[in-house]
Amino acid sequence: MEASAKMQENRKEGAVSRETPVLYLVVPCYNEEEVVEKSAQIMGGKLKRLKQEGKIAAASKIMFVNDGSRDNTLRLLHQIADRDAMFSVVSLSGNYGHQSAILAGMMMARKYADAVITIDADLQQDIEALDKFLACYMAGSDVVYGVRNDRHSDGIFKKGTATAYYKLMHLLGSRVIANHADYRLMSKKALDALSEYKETNLFLRGLIPTMGFPSDVVYFDVKAREAGHSKYTLSKMMTLALDGITSMSIRPLRMIAVLGFIFFLFFGIVGITVIVDWVQGNNVPGYTTTLLVSLLTGGATLVSLGIIGEYIGKIYMETKHRPRYIIDTFVWKEDQKSD
Ligand code: UDP
Ligand code: MG
Repeated sequence: MEASAKMQENRKEGAVSRETPVLYLVVPCYNEEEVVEKSAQIMGGKLKRLKQEGKIAAASKIMFVNDGSRDNTLRLLHQIADRDAMFSVVSLSGNYGHQSAILAGMMMARKYADAVITIDADLQQDIEALDKFLACYMAGSDVVYGVRNDRHSDGIFKKGTATAYYKLMHLLGSRVIANHADYRLMSKKALDALSEYKETNLFLRGLIPTMGFPSDVVYFDVKAREAGHSKYTLSKMMTLALDGITSMSIRPLRMIAVLGFIFFLFFGIVGITVIVDWVQGNNVPGYTTTLLVSLLTGGATLVSLGIIGEYIGKIYMETKHRPRYIIDTFVWKEDQKSD
């Protein structure tokens, strides 16, 4: 109570002084047996150094989220957590997808942590950027977005589709931050606010920038995957992309109406010329025009129906109020060590 009053006081003066945070790293894992041992080693080492440097509190931990892996991931994670209480494991009852997995981890971690950073299991995102995230947090940011410096570790296809996608998202009015994946710090306050968003169709990258709160951006290098292969199949990527659009914007629906209006005008003009022709007695057989017009309208109608259907599907899913994930097991141990 007293601490929060002090913070408000500081905010008024434009300076935020924060205490060394309990930091939780939330790491989603789906079939990552090749990489989890190494991730635990590298992330654990980094966390230990941050503790020694006094940048994070001793109670800081790494929380792995097993997203229904079908390989040995869960067994390995449990071994890691058995060895060292710095590691905690949330295991979901099935594969709920990356977004739900990090949400599950963040919602669990906010009970213990002052700040949570989500990071992929494959060590592609530079772990050394943690210092920069923490500096922004200490300076008063409640949300810190990790933005990748470049995309040379991605293939041409992924690079191209990603760039086109960000352009499209901006065109549709969504406030996604370009080249920001889910390497991100959120303060407990921001996470508590996020917990109030109950939507099933969750697109964190679009949602979080709309929440307000002081935020900052941190740049980091992207490396090639440490081991294993990408768990984002083309269909998972398409689903995420579509969810991103339909959960953040209803502009596509409006565009259908605009399209309809344009067609209406066009047909109006064609209609008038046809009538004028008919009155003048020039009944030219317009086979090409007829065919083109019917193809065009048929296509436009189908696309429009598809878009509307996509939204209706989303409404249908939302009305069910199903849980976004189900936690099967949870391992968390008090850290007994004094280091
Ligand atoms: N992931 C997950 N559930 C899924 C797919 C992926 O938890 O259904 C995790 C995965 O283990 C990794 C992160 O999400 O830690 C990012 O996935 P990946 O590295 O395969 O994606 P890419 O970097 O290729 O976009
Ligand atoms: Mg990856």
